[in-house]
Amino acid sequence: MKVYIMVDMEGISGIVDIAYMDQTSDFYRTGRTLLTEDMNAAVAGCFDGGADEVWVLDAHSQGCNIEPALLDERAILDKNRSRWCGSLDETFDATLIVGQHAMAGTLNGFLDHTQSSKAWFSYSINGRPIGEIGQWATMAGHFDVPLIYLAGDQAACDEAADLIPGIVTTAVKKGVGRNRAVGMHPNHAHATIRRDAARAVAAKKSKFPRPLKWKLPMTCRLEYYRSDMADDRALRGDVVRIDARTLEKKCKTQADILL
Ligand SMILES: [Zn+2]
Repeated sequence: MKVYIMVDMEGISGIVDIAYMDQTSDFYRTGRTLLTEDMNAAVAGCFDGGADEVWVLDAHSQGCNIEPALLDERAILDKNRSRWCGSLDETFDATLIVGQHAMAGTLNGFLDHTQSSKAWFSYSINGRPIGEIGQWATMAGHFDVPLIYLAGDQAACDEAADLIPGIVTTAVKKGVGRNRAVGMHPNHAHATIRRDAARAVAAKKSKFPRPLKWKLPMTCRLEYYRSDMADDRALRGDVVRIDARTLEKKCKTQADILL
């Protein structure tokens, strides 16, 4: 079995303050280690559960957060940056997400946002608000790949369970408002991620959640914080201006989601 893991940073265990994401701060070095360790726990869980090939994509910021020398030697670190979903395609049997945060506007979602916390106010597909979890599941669904597991904060886990019935999740912490979190000691989180990811993978294909499929053509709608942000995007074409801050795009396939 071949699986693909995407890692983000805000939902990593032990990361309880935005300082860990600040690349000019000493905390960031600790953040990288914590991210790599959560990732390794998921990689080990995938192998425990029966995977024979595990690819990983570092999807936070510029994608240079994983510490390569600390990464589980069995994992394949995907550096294909030609697409935002890396090398994810129909050859994979399942995908997993580690370190995830909730969509923009989620109460008690630690550092909740969708793509850009400075520009994106809300995003929806066919009228349903979704965030990065839904976007990843949509991209995977294009290739008929199911999202089977997610680790992150409690709000991200709730969002995933709402969108993907049957997904296995591990809540490593809980947001207290947007800027603080409390949760498991990282060592405890690693053991739990490993156990839960193994359970998700071991369920095998017939028991996996269904790949996420939308009614096509899909209507993707993006509302920015300010109208000048929509002005700039509208200049690039292929979108309809709904109002000062909102653009809409009709997508023939799930691979064309507005990004
Ligand atoms: Zn993110």
